[in-house]
Amino acid sequence: MKKDKLDEFEVDIDKCMHCGACVGSCPQNAITLREVLIEFNDDCNLCKRCIKVCPVGAITLVGDD
Ligand code: SF4
Ligand code: SF4
Repeated sequence: MKKDKLDEFEVDIDKCMHCGACVGSCPQNAITLREVLIEFNDDCNLCKRCIKVCPVGAITLVGDD
């Protein structure tokens, strides 16, 4: 079940190649690689490092253009 700010993250699973770069970039350890999806948890402080580090631009923050 999704909740709060985590609803704002979108990962394009067609682009994501499970490289793990976003996981390694997160200062809050808020990202977990699942079999298909990337999961964000409540420790996220919305620093957007994961978005910048993703080599294929798979992560977007909804409403943040
Ligand atoms: S925005 Fe920052 S804290 Fe949140 S998941 Fe991405 S890297 Fe981690
Ligand atoms: S950095 Fe991008 S491509 Fe790599 S696992 Fe994260 S979302 Fe997927």
